Amino acid sequence: MDNCIFCRIINKEIPAEIVFEDSESVAFMDINPVNYGHLLLIPKKHFPYIADVPDDLLGRMFVKTKMLMGKLKDATNADYVINSVVGLDVPHFHIHIIPRYHNDGLARFWPVRKYSDDEMKKVAEKIRKFI
Ligand code: AMP
Ligand code: ZN
Repeated sequence: MDNCIFCRIINKEIPAEIVFEDSESVAFMDINPVNYGHLLLIPKKHFPYIADVPDDLLGRMFVKTKMLMGKLKDATNADYVINSVVGLDVPHFHIHIIPRYHNDGLARFWPVRKYSDDEMKKVAEKIRKFI
């Protein structure tokens, strides 16, 4: 995709600090890291969102994520490593891989709500009907 920033990184049209590359994927440093060492793992083929990625490739992407999480933990002395799929800004599927520290002050990524009464059961029942 011509106007996709991550495709342009793959095509080496714009610079990125790449830490891992194989035939189907690239991992590079996020320019606005949550913590230093924050990586983005992307497939070389352009798929906008997780729902667009073929199952077999998606499975391999998460196996690579697991591998990179271990390497990143060792490289950054992180207490633990998290991953997330957000996709609010860049519509080229990517997995965030982020080193975390017990004292990094990022206990929560988003505010949480409380269910009242039997709301959780009701919402769960609705979801079950779609699964
Ligand atoms: P999101 O789409 O919400 O998952 O976020 C996109 C992520 O891509 C953000 O964390 C950005 O900091 C990161 N990002 C955007 N452009 C670049 C770039 N040129 N190089 C590295 N990271 C980028
Ligand atoms: Zn793309």
